[in-house]
Amino acid sequence: MTLTFLGTASGLTVVHRRHFSILVEASGEPFLLDAGEGVTQGLLECSMEPERISAVCVSHTHPDHAAGLPMLLQTCYLRERTAPLDIYLPEGRIAWFERMLRGFNIFDSRWKYPMCLKPLEEAAERLPLRVFRNHHLDTIVDVAPAFGLDAVSYSYVVSDSDRRVLVSSDILGIGDIVDHLPGVDFLVLDATHTEYRDIVELAERKPGLTIVLTHIPPEVEDNAHPLQEMARNGRLTLAEDGYSMQIN
Ligand SMILES: [Zn+2]
Repeated sequence: MTLTFLGTASGLTVVHRRHFSILVEASGEPFLLDAGEGVTQGLLECSMEPERISAVCVSHTHPDHAAGLPMLLQTCYLRERTAPLDIYLPEGRIAWFERMLRGFNIFDSRWKYPMCLKPLEEAAERLPLRVFRNHHLDTIVDVAPAFGLDAVSYSYVVSDSDRRVLVSSDILGIGDIVDHLPGVDFLVLDATHTEYRDIVELAERKPGLTIVLTHIPPEVEDNAHPLQEMARNGRLTLAEDGYSMQIN
């Protein structure tokens, strides 16, 4: 299994990082975990043709995880994709997404490739992963229902052979994932919504766990930040755009 970090920025746009997206190549098919702005450029940069992507999963619909999707769809159309594309969305966001695409003048009935929008919780039926809910969107539970929207966000566990990778996507804190760590070999962790002391404690408590941080906020770029020191000591990796992780 290979994970390629197409975008590693936090929710704040910066010059040197695209927004969150991870290309997974496992069990013979390439698919995406989230599709933040710049995802299509990220694919082209690592020589992955966008029309080869078989599915896109979206953990939650914050723009830094989903705003690259319309351009990916348009690029597939312009490159004359014909293969179907499955898009897995959080609960309650399918009708909204369809309407948004029409607003972008995307009418897939006129395209050569069909899009199939499905609930994210059905992704496990086709892809080598499972999803579980986290509390990242608890902060909007008081406002979203007034607009007929759920406030649901997910993390992923990707499996290939006997290897497991937990990709937190955005979480509320490390408490969202600890119950899912047993049996996990690699942890791809949100560096924006996690206290660095919790990361230090986790690295000490689970020395066999390989930790890769992404969703990197600007303050972590500072060479004096404790997480930079941990990276220099080889206790974790701070992902950069284009960083590729081979897991055997
Ligand atoms: Zn985010």
